[in-house]
Amino acid sequence: MSKKLLLKDAHIEGIRYFETYRKQGGYTAAEKALKMTPDEILEEVKTSGLRGRGGAGFPTGMKWSFLAKPEGVPRHLVVNADESEPGTFKDRYLMEFLPHLLIEGMLISSYCLGSNTSYIYIRGEYSWIPDILEEAIEEAKAAGFLGKNILGTGFDLEIYVQRGGGAYICGEETALLESLEGKRGNPRLKPPFPAVKGLWERPTVVNNVESIAAIVPIIDITGAEYAKIGVGRSTGTKLISACGNINKPGVYEIDMTITVEEFIYSDEYCGGIKDGKRLKACIPGGSSVPIVPANLLLRTVNGEPRYMNYESLADGGFATGTMMGSGGFIVLDEDQCIVEHTMTLARFYNHESCGQCTPCREGTGWMYKILKKIEKGEGKMEDIDLLWDIQRKIEGNTICPLGDAAAWPVAAAIRHFRDEFEWHVKNPELSQTQNYGLAHY
Ligand code: SF4
Repeated sequence: MSKKLLLKDAHIEGIRYFETYRKQGGYTAAEKALKMTPDEILEEVKTSGLRGRGGAGFPTGMKWSFLAKPEGVPRHLVVNADESEPGTFKDRYLMEFLPHLLIEGMLISSYCLGSNTSYIYIRGEYSWIPDILEEAIEEAKAAGFLGKNILGTGFDLEIYVQRGGGAYICGEETALLESLEGKRGNPRLKPPFPAVKGLWERPTVVNNVESIAAIVPIIDITGAEYAKIGVGRSTGTKLISACGNINKPGVYEIDMTITVEEFIYSDEYCGGIKDGKRLKACIPGGSSVPIVPANLLLRTVNGEPRYMNYESLADGGFATGTMMGSGGFIVLDEDQCIVEHTMTLARFYNHESCGQCTPCREGTGWMYKILKKIEKGEGKMEDIDLLWDIQRKIEGNTICPLGDAAAWPVAAAIRHFRDEFEWHVKNPELSQTQNYGLAHY
């Protein structure tokens, strides 16, 4: 059984309220941290090996150490709660059931970074969560853990919750900052990076909800103990939101030493494929990482078991990057049509493109149109090559990662499931009434 650090108290009734959270030992990590120096906290975070839980997996301690500290200029911590990646809902779970874990993590992190005004930017569709967070903020303030001169240390902190307007692109950190400043959420060109010029051109750290929540157990048990959990550079625990054709969709906390097979088939986690069907493919880290066929998902290209961690989830037919992503684990069974699935994602990215760069604005639209054509049985063989060509022209040629995120699912689908695309082209009539999965299994 995986060790629980973040969700260990999630089952306790009333844990979202200060009194219950405090009874379970809540805010003791903050009390401990406020007796440390900011540099000592930073060292603990670095030692822990924590990697950003939003998708990129960049080391959090290193990110914090880049924060510029010009004399007299305020700094900010911004929590990215714009969790919009299809298949990802673990931050929602944390904020809904353990809001004080996030507030406590923000208190420790803000103290370490020297931020006296910190923000939670939350996606518009999570309409009921801001009230929960604001209630928790008021409770923490009433108990002396927020506001002026916290616990007599002289440290002041205000936390504000800002609701987004429902745009996926505002999950990109610079688009988020634009939106937080009251402008249209268009990504900025980098550099300068937010650590130097972020919110209102002030040094800013933007971190995911889960990353900030993980600061609490790191201070609690020490960075060194945290680093002993997990394996290699995949330290600590990771929240995974599992969905799709599985028996037990939900949010699970894993310690990154379990195999993908165990995660899918064990009753402790996904409980196997629904209705006893066969596993066909999976998107292991939210829709922006490549889809992986079952054979490559359970075993690496060398035939080794694949594990649920950053390093093991790394080849999948692609040379670079990790497929751990945002932890949104989407499982597809044998009946699912990869072309239809890819088309749905293409429509999503086309809709969410901010339109600043031509390859993304135009390319996502073309990919959606071509996929729609193929899926309806109206495509030609050369359309598959055209699709491949378009995704190649998007990748690496845009301001922000949305372009890559739109290109990769298409590339992976063609690379691993080209026969399905060809089946749609060769069977125009059948493909209007059936899908490849139903026709072949
Ligand atoms: Fe906008 Fe797409 Fe360019 Fe990102 S890649 S800036 S979403 S047009």
